[in-house]
Amino acid sequence: MPEQDHYDVIIIGSGAGGGTLAWKLAPSGKRILLLERGPYLPRERDNWDTTAVFVRAKYHTTEEWLDQDDHEFSPEQNYYVGGNTKLYGAALFRLRPEDFGVIQHHGGLSPAWPLSYDDFEPYYAQGEDLYHVHGAAGEDPTVGPRSSEFPYPPVQHEPRIEKLHEDLVKLGLHPAHLPLGVLLDQDEHGNATHASACIRCNRVDGFPCLVNGKADAQIVCVDPALAAHRNLTLVTDAHVTRLETDEGGRQVTAVQAEMADGSARRFSGDVVVVSCGALNSALLLLRSANDAHPRGLANGSDQVGRNYVRHNNMAVIALSRTPNDTRLQKTLVVNDWYRKGEDWDYPWGSIQMLGKSDGEQLRAMAPRFLAWGAKLTPGGVLEDIARHGVDFWMSSEDLPRADSRITLGRDGTVRLSLPKDNNTEGLARMRQKFDSMLADLGFHQKSHQRGVYLHEGMNIAATAHQAGTARFGTDPQTSVLDTNCRAHELDNLYVVDSSFFVSIGAVNPTLTIVANALRVGDHLLERLA
Ligand SMILES: Cc1cc2nc3c(=O)[nH]c(=O)nc-3n(C[C@H](O)[C@H](O)[C@H](O)COP(=O)(O)OP(=O)(O)OC[C@H]3O[C@@H](n4cnc5c(N)ncnc54)[C@H](O)[C@@H]3O)c2cc1C
Ligand code: SF4
Repeated sequence: MPEQDHYDVIIIGSGAGGGTLAWKLAPSGKRILLLERGPYLPRERDNWDTTAVFVRAKYHTTEEWLDQDDHEFSPEQNYYVGGNTKLYGAALFRLRPEDFGVIQHHGGLSPAWPLSYDDFEPYYAQGEDLYHVHGAAGEDPTVGPRSSEFPYPPVQHEPRIEKLHEDLVKLGLHPAHLPLGVLLDQDEHGNATHASACIRCNRVDGFPCLVNGKADAQIVCVDPALAAHRNLTLVTDAHVTRLETDEGGRQVTAVQAEMADGSARRFSGDVVVVSCGALNSALLLLRSANDAHPRGLANGSDQVGRNYVRHNNMAVIALSRTPNDTRLQKTLVVNDWYRKGEDWDYPWGSIQMLGKSDGEQLRAMAPRFLAWGAKLTPGGVLEDIARHGVDFWMSSEDLPRADSRITLGRDGTVRLSLPKDNNTEGLARMRQKFDSMLADLGFHQKSHQRGVYLHEGMNIAATAHQAGTARFGTDPQTSVLDTNCRAHELDNLYVVDSSFFVSIGAVNPTLTIVANALRVGDHLLERLA
């Protein structure tokens, strides 16, 4: 291997986990290589075009996997510098302290993490700083203690959402400002100042940000680290296909990659960090099986690829009696039923605002949607329906199970299998409760399920919130990684993305991925020193 292809650290994948880790390690002066499967996401008008993004799925992978019944589907994944954060909705929540312990759900137990909320708290604070999280402490009754205020003030509600907030309070609930990662500088009315990168528009959820106003891993980590530290090298269009080990299987000795022009390259590093996202990281470990690791790298426990979690979730649209002219709608969250549902002994989950849908997005769901909406708005014009629509996202916990897993066939076929039902009753009850409140909140009486990001929430292709396929723990029989996210079975292999999750809670996962990358970064800095 030529000397120039040897590094102190190789990080594979530049999303929330890998991009953040690269940012954290870059000031050390160590030679760091960031290998990214995709290119930079092009900046172009289509970034904000509904048809391109949602109907033509221009930025999604076209690869096809199989489900447990042999049906093909295309997983919701995006391969670019910055990973899935290029298209994410930037809702950056901390898990609740209880999420780190055992929770009894209607559908079973959510297991304990080997670390507690207190272990993560300082890193949550650093992650909020790095990802420009705007929020307000003290509003949400379920959040854990904070060592500091939010680094940025909450994104102000626009009038329709402010009214919704007031109506929810009248119902005895505790709506809070949604913690959002945007590079938004607001004037006293909440509008973007002339110097603000984010212009406060209606494209925040599922679209790449054309004006670089979203705190994604490319914008806040990879690009600034590359600009400031010449010891960090980014190689794009480098699809890592296999990790090689020494004969004993304790050291990763080389990383094989396929380049965009079809050529093959090999790199080596003292430390190798896999950060390809929970599903692709598991696949890479499985693909790297060898004599020392016949079931896949680090897979002596047979846990790699299992315990896949992704949230039980549902997007709904409710029709407001008054027009909803909100631009940036993703500003409110209700977590009153996070720990326990109403008149129930088990958790329900979280209700958040979603990015504002437009007529074109609804057209993708027509004619089913059109028939429903036509009853409610004169003429049934989709733009008109969208103008009255208010979009919500309901999220509740699914549980890690051995049969919830990604596997690799001998011929390379990828299969994703989900249990038939995974703790879905809480979500169903939360939806019922939500619908029962609609009239009091100024809506027509029934909400409608919305296909968001091209599918309905429970569809197997809904891999946006993937986690848990190489969980961390203290017991090598039941976990893949130790508490520093180093593989139990290898001395220089780490996994730093959403794979390490033991459970997923009911809030969006990315701030926890970021916090963990910063935490593991501290460990690696010590190791490298
Ligand atoms: C539409 C959408 C909306 C979302 N909204 C939110 C939200 O509001 N809040 C939230 O918390 N989360 C949200 N998410 C989820 C969020 O994007 C993910 O949790 C997060 O990006 C996961 O980080 P990661 O590092 O685990 O993986 P990723 O960010 O997916 O990064 C993995 C990286 O590895 C690269 N890669 C994969 N395989 C290889 C390989 N073999 N070789 C080299 N490189 C490879 C990929 O190209 C990618 O860059 C959303 C996701 C989507 C798709
Ligand atoms: S709201 Fe801000 S961050 Fe979101 S797409 Fe618009 S400009 Fe970009």
